[in-house]
Amino acid sequence: MKPNRVLVVGSYVVDLMSRTPHMPRTGETVLGGPFRMGAGGKGGNQAAAAARLGAKVSLVTKVGDDEFGRSAMSHFQAEGIRTDWVTVDPEEATGVALILVDDNKDNQIVVSLGACGTLSREDVEKVEADLAASDIVLIQLETNLDAVGTALNLADKHHIPSILNPAPYQPFDRTWLKYAAYITPNETEASALTEMEVNDPDSAASAARLLADWGARSVLITLGGKGVVLRESTGQCWHIPPYQVEVKDTTGAGDAFNGGFAHALSVGKSALEAALYASAVAALSVTRVGTAVSMPQESEVLELME
Ligand code: ATP
Repeated sequence: MKPNRVLVVGSYVVDLMSRTPHMPRTGETVLGGPFRMGAGGKGGNQAAAAARLGAKVSLVTKVGDDEFGRSAMSHFQAEGIRTDWVTVDPEEATGVALILVDDNKDNQIVVSLGACGTLSREDVEKVEADLAASDIVLIQLETNLDAVGTALNLADKHHIPSILNPAPYQPFDRTWLKYAAYITPNETEASALTEMEVNDPDSAASAARLLADWGARSVLITLGGKGVVLRESTGQCWHIPPYQVEVKDTTGAGDAFNGGFAHALSVGKSALEAALYASAVAALSVTRVGTAVSMPQESEVLELME
C-alpha cells in the first residue's frame, strides 16, 4: 500500500476579514460590513488541501499559547492534519492576517506572522526522521528563510522530492532552485524571480526556461484564469488551460493548486498528471468563498476531471 505522506513546512495564521464600503484613510474609522474569521496561512491552507484529498499530512509550524492557537489545533484535528510538529510558542502570539475587502472587491492585507514566523532551523531539524519517511515535502516562503533552506536541504539529502512554492515572494538564495524538485511561482512571483514580465503562457514558458538555466528542475507557473505552464526537467513544456467553472472567490487558488499537486505526486502521478489534477483542485476552490474551507474532496475532483 502506498504510504502517501506529505510533509508541509510553513505558516499558520488566522484570517480576520472585514467588509468595508471604502478603505479607511489615515486616522479614519469606517463602520464596516460583515466580519468573517477562518483558518489561513499558506502552510495551513496547503496542508488542508492535501489532507482533504486523502494524503497523510504532517504540518511543521508554530502557534501561540492563546485562543487562536487552541482553535488552530482543533482545526488541524478536524481536517485530519497531524499536529506532532505543531509547536506552541509561549512567547509569540498566533499569526493573524488582517484583511479588508471594499465594495469594489479590492483588498488590503496585513499579515503578522507571530509564532509561525519564528520557525527555526532547529525546529525543522527535529523532524528529519519524519521528513525522510515522506513521499513529498511542500514548502512556501511565508516563514523564516532559515527554516525554508533547512527543509530544502534535508529533502535533497534524503532524496525526497520537494515543492518550493515561492510565495509570498521574498528574495532567496538562488542555489535553492536546484534543491527543489518543483518550483511553483504564480505570475507575480515568476516576474519578481526572473525580472521578466510574466502574464501569459508564452512569457511564462520563457521565464520557466530562464529558471531552468539557473538550475531549477521542473517549473510550474500558475497564471490564474489563464491556467498553468509546466516545464518539465526534460525541457518539455505544456500549457494546461483552466477548467471552466463559475468563479466566486479566487483567494487560496494557489494554495489549492500546491496542496493538490503535492497529493497527486505523493501517490505516484507524473508531473503532467499531477498538474492536471491540481488544476481541477484549484478550479473547484475558486467556486467557493474562503481559503482552507474552500478546498475540495477527492470525489469532487475526480468528477470534474471526468
Ligand atoms: P492566490 O494568491 O489567490 O491564492 P495564486 O496567485 O497563487 O492564487 P493563481 O495563479 O491565481 O494562484 O491560481 C492557481 C491555479 O488555480 C491556476 O493555475 C488555475 O489552475 C486555477 N485557477 C485560478 N483562477 C481560476 C479561474 N478563474 N478558473 C479556473 N481555474 C482557476
